[in-house]
Amino acid sequence: MTRDILDFDRQHIWHPYTSTTNPLPVREVVSAHGVRLKLKGGRELVDGMASWWAAIHGYNHPILNAAVTDQLSRMAHVMFGGLTHEPAVELCRALVDLTPAPLTKVFLADSGSVAVEVAIKMAFQYWICRGQSTKNRLLTIRGGYHGDTFAAMSVCDPVNGMHESFSGVLSRHHFVPRPGCRFGDEWDDNDITPMREALERHHHEIAAVILEPVVQGAGGMYFYHPMYVKRVRELCDAFDVLLIADEIATGFGRTGTLFACEHAGISPDIMCLGKALTGGYMTLAATLATDRVAEGVCTGDPGVFMHGPTFMGNPLACAVARASLRLLVETDWAAQVARIGRSLTIGLAPCRNLSYISDVRILGAIGVVELEEPVRMAEIQNAFVEQGVWVRPFGRLVYVMPPYITDDQDLAFLTKSLVKVVAEHFR
Ligand SMILES: *Cc1c(COP(=O)(O)O)cnc(C)c1O
Repeated sequence: MTRDILDFDRQHIWHPYTSTTNPLPVREVVSAHGVRLKLKGGRELVDGMASWWAAIHGYNHPILNAAVTDQLSRMAHVMFGGLTHEPAVELCRALVDLTPAPLTKVFLADSGSVAVEVAIKMAFQYWICRGQSTKNRLLTIRGGYHGDTFAAMSVCDPVNGMHESFSGVLSRHHFVPRPGCRFGDEWDDNDITPMREALERHHHEIAAVILEPVVQGAGGMYFYHPMYVKRVRELCDAFDVLLIADEIATGFGRTGTLFACEHAGISPDIMCLGKALTGGYMTLAATLATDRVAEGVCTGDPGVFMHGPTFMGNPLACAVARASLRLLVETDWAAQVARIGRSLTIGLAPCRNLSYISDVRILGAIGVVELEEPVRMAEIQNAFVEQGVWVRPFGRLVYVMPPYITDDQDLAFLTKSLVKVVAEHFR
């Protein structure tokens, strides 16, 4: 049976960033509970990925399960045009409460990439409605990742971003180097110079600066100085440019503050959320905006924000997101994240000073081991599974961002396994 499944999969199904003609191996997962994924055949893996930042409370959580089934017995879905419902309203109330105060308006989107599309569209529509349609470019930092759809792709890193192949069909935006000052370094104000110069030169055509505050995720797992974000906020105000914070990966506590913007003590004009929003249960994202942005977008012609997906505000997704946020604020997430950070620091310490490792960095509940050479993907994935952990590296990066509920014993097992597998891989 499992052969059937794997054979069919191999012949017919695309996985993220893979070939269907020369696919990498996949494994069949049959269930997941707490921090463990159970594979067909019975092998259990301690999860180091939280399903790409999402499953912060772990899998098969009774409270989240109940939120879905309770909502399911009432209404799985209903259109959001002309109708509303309690799950959406209660979720949006929580989002307005939790995010920085100036963010008051919520647009519910289907996925992170769509939330970024929505943010970009809001920024452009804002300037069009204000009669400044020449402000139709974005400005961002290199090394970013904002999603796979076209507008989102256009602000991903233009070189190591996975999308240089599309350069000819993407809108052209302005890029400056990513900040050189890392999180924890001493701040050097020269770091902001390229951003300031780009704004001085091009502000008349720039609608918004978009960036992932403090932590760049899939573009390189890079942690940079919060002062950079603060300076960008000041420059955006000075040059009349909007600031979009893409907190899809960083949101909901992962970096040690509820939102990464809080490290810098700033608030963006537009914020994108996703990934951990539903605790990893369903696809849902949100774009929040200030009153100023909302008023700008909704005055003039056409007077409405021109976006509205079919499955907008899906009640099942909203209900589980609401439950996930309640769970987050009711547990001491900050202590959990700090504990994970300490455990990762200790557990990954043996990686420091190894010739094949160029850097080890930890922030919040994220641990990154950067290698001198890219990994051989199929081989290292196999080794991790053999070892009993689920870790999925890319390129020169082996990293973990475990569910917040991971206990110290599982964390020690995860880091010990990581150190061992990497050492054997580069022996
Ligand atoms: C994952 C991610 C996205 C895209 O989200 P999807 O749900 O995969 O479309 C956008 N921005 C950041 C920072 C991300 O980490």
